[in-house]
Amino acid sequence: MKKVFLVNPLALTDKKERIHFLRDYSGAEIPTSMAYPPLDLSYVAAILRENNIPVTLLDASTLNLPPSEVLKPAAQERPDFIGIPSAWGSIPFDIELAKELKNRLPSVKIVIWGVNVTANPEIALSSGYIDFVILGEPEKPFLDIVNGVLAENVAYKSGGKTILAKRSLLENLDSLPFPARDLLPNAKYTAPYARKNPFTSVSTSRGCPYSKCNFCPTNIWYMNRVRYRSVENVMQEIGEIINKLKIHSIIFRDQSLTFEQERLINICNEIISRKHPVSWRCFSGVGIRNKKLFSIMKKAGCYQINYGFESGSQEILDLNNKGTTLEESREAVRLTREAGIEVSGSFMLGMWGDTEETIKKTVDFAISLDIDYAEFILATPLPTTKFYEQCGLQDKTGTFISQRWYNRSYNSNLLLKDNFLEKQLKSAYKRFYFRPAYIFSRLCNNLSLERLFLQSKSAVSLFRKIWG
Ligand code: SF4
Repeated sequence: MKKVFLVNPLALTDKKERIHFLRDYSGAEIPTSMAYPPLDLSYVAAILRENNIPVTLLDASTLNLPPSEVLKPAAQERPDFIGIPSAWGSIPFDIELAKELKNRLPSVKIVIWGVNVTANPEIALSSGYIDFVILGEPEKPFLDIVNGVLAENVAYKSGGKTILAKRSLLENLDSLPFPARDLLPNAKYTAPYARKNPFTSVSTSRGCPYSKCNFCPTNIWYMNRVRYRSVENVMQEIGEIINKLKIHSIIFRDQSLTFEQERLINICNEIISRKHPVSWRCFSGVGIRNKKLFSIMKKAGCYQINYGFESGSQEILDLNNKGTTLEESREAVRLTREAGIEVSGSFMLGMWGDTEETIKKTVDFAISLDIDYAEFILATPLPTTKFYEQCGLQDKTGTFISQRWYNRSYNSNLLLKDNFLEKQLKSAYKRFYFRPAYIFSRLCNNLSLERLFLQSKSAVSLFRKIWG
C-alpha cells in the first residue's frame, strides 16, 4: 500500500526571515500576522483517504516549523510520495526542501503543484528533485499519480524529455470529499480581520466569473471556467464545520461569492433556517450591487466583503481591463455599509500605465471610500498575463525573474528609480491607517477584546513594515 506525506512548508530565507504563502489559486505571500488553512492540501488528503491511501499532513507553515524540522517527521512516515503545494514566490524554497527530502529518502517521489508550476512546469522538473508537477487543481491528479495513471493534468520527465499531459477540469465539484480538516491545527488559523478566531476557509465555487483583468493569472489555473458546488453540498460542509469542529467563523475563498446571486441567496436562507451560528467574510466584485442580497447576507452572518478596487484612476482601470468604474465602487461600498457589512478593499500600486499622479489618486480614493480595511500591493507582471506581455517578458515565459518574484519590470523608468514603488507602498499604508479619523473610528467600532488584540498585533507588524 502506497503512503503519502503532505506538507505545507514554511519558507525560510538565508537571513532566517520566515515567509508564509497562500499555496492555492492565488499563490500569494501572506503577512506573518495571519495563518490560513491550506485548503487544497486538505482536499488532497481527503481524496487520498477516501481511496484508502494512508496520508499524513503537516502544516509546517502555520506551526512555524522550518524546513529542517520537516525532514524528520517525513522520514519517520517512510512515504512513497511527498506532496508540496507551491506559490509564486516560494519555488526556490520548495526546490530546496525537495532536495533535502530526496537526500533523506532517495526513493520517494516528489509531487508539486501551484499556479507558478502550472505556468512553467520546467522550473520544477529541471531541478532534478521533483518527479511530478500537477497542472492545475491537485486532488484527482494526485490520486492518479499515486495509482500510476499519468494521462491528464501532469508533467514529468521521461527519457530526458518533458511530457505534458493534456489539461482537464473536474466537472462535478460535489464529487469531492470535504477537506480533511481533522488533520489540520484548526485552533491556529487566525486573521486580524476575522470576526471570530479561529476561522476556517471554504470554497463553494472555483474560477473567476469575470476572468479578464490584464494582471491576473487566475486563468492558468481555472482555464477560463467557473464551476459551482450545489447549495446542499455547501450546507453539509458548513454543518460539519460547526457541529464537528466547533468552528463558527468562515472565510469564503470563492473569487466572487456574490456573482450567482440566486445561489448565494439560497445558501444564506439555508444558514438562517438551520440557525447556524456562523460569521463569514467573502470576496465580491463591485458589479454586484444588490441591496436585498447584502441584507440577506448580513442576516446569514456576513460581516465583511472584500472588493478588488485596484485603482483610483478610471484611466488605469480601463487600461488594465478591470471592467469597473469608480462610481460603481463607491456605490458598492455605500450599499454594503448600509446593510451593516464591513468593507475591505485591495489596491494595486504600479499597474500598467501608473504614474506618480495615478498612484496618489489610488491612495486618495482608498481614503475617500471610508472603508474598514485596505490592502495595498505592488502590481507584479506574472507569467501568462497580459501585464507580463506588456512588460516585454513574453518571450521568456516562465522565467523566474527573482526569488520572490518581486523584481518587476515596469513600463515607466520613474517607477523603478530609488525604490519608488516600495516607498509609495509604505506611504499608502501610513496615509490610510495612521489617520486620526480612522484610528478613532476603529476604537469606536465595538471591537471585541480578542479582535482588538489581533488588530493590535497586526498594527505592530504594520509599524515594522512602514518604519522598521
Ligand atoms: S476579477 Fe479580475 S483580478 Fe479578480 S480574480 Fe477575476 S480576473 Fe482576477
